[in-house]
Amino acid sequence: MEQNLLSTGINLQDRVALVTGAGRGIGRLIALRLAALGAKIAVNSLHSETSENVASEIRRSGGSAVPLSANVGVYSEAESLVEECVRHFSRVDILVNNAGITRDGLLLRMKEMDWDAVLTTNLKSAFSCTRAASKWMIRQRYGRIINIASVSGIIGNVGQANYAASKAGLLGFTKAVARELAGRTITVNAVAPGFIETDMTRDLSPQVKEDLMRRIPLGRLGQPSDVAHMVAFLASDLASYITGQTFSVDGGMAM
Ligand code: NAP
Repeated sequence: MEQNLLSTGINLQDRVALVTGAGRGIGRLIALRLAALGAKIAVNSLHSETSENVASEIRRSGGSAVPLSANVGVYSEAESLVEECVRHFSRVDILVNNAGITRDGLLLRMKEMDWDAVLTTNLKSAFSCTRAASKWMIRQRYGRIINIASVSGIIGNVGQANYAASKAGLLGFTKAVARELAGRTITVNAVAPGFIETDMTRDLSPQVKEDLMRRIPLGRLGQPSDVAHMVAFLASDLASYITGQTFSVDGGMAM
């Protein structure tokens, strides 16, 4: 019988995971989930308070975590973030490029700074963190890179030209880097959440939420844990033959 069939589940013992934007929302749940499966976690966020809260939460439940605040949109900060993770835990096995923002507006009203901020935070950050982390992963001959995209990058969304472009860009980035790193036993995949209940979607009007519900075949908004389960699978050895793929976690929105 193949070895994988004997495995009882996901075990990330001895793995080190760096999760960007893990101070709240989806990133926080990804960090908690990977920690619960045994990984040591470098918890990144923009503000030190949120990453410290999540790192403490992990330590209180018996896990190992270090808070590392940094603006991943700035290349030098992303590079130092990866270095700090390695300095603390001696390696980096799993990188989750999750940090992201929205600056929504219709195209004709969208300001140049809103375009730049979203592309920098959502897309350039993935380039910067991946470039820095892949150097270590290549030496280790092991790595799991997971990019958090969006349904918006697959089917588009009114008022999100900047956001949809950044997330579609992540999907192309995922495939190109997956091809480059495959020979080093490093996999690169993307997860495309639909509408997930976090601070990012909290302020949507009841009208917009109702419209959204109608577009979601499974009839509910997603929870951060729905995304975290997929990330945990892709981070594990069970997903060792999967690379360059995009997995939608969207209640069926983009089928
Ligand atoms: P969220 O609740 O707004 O949390 C965003 C997190 O990213 C926060 O921890 C924030 O740090 C951090 N962050 C923002 N800018 C950063 C920067 N420049 N450097 C480092 N960290 C930064 O967002 P979310 O809803 O969990 O979204 C997480 C990811 O999923 C994003 O990439 C988003 O585009 C994607 N996504 C979300 C949804 C959704 O419906 N919520 C759907 C599809 C895709 P602080 O805590 O310090 O502020």
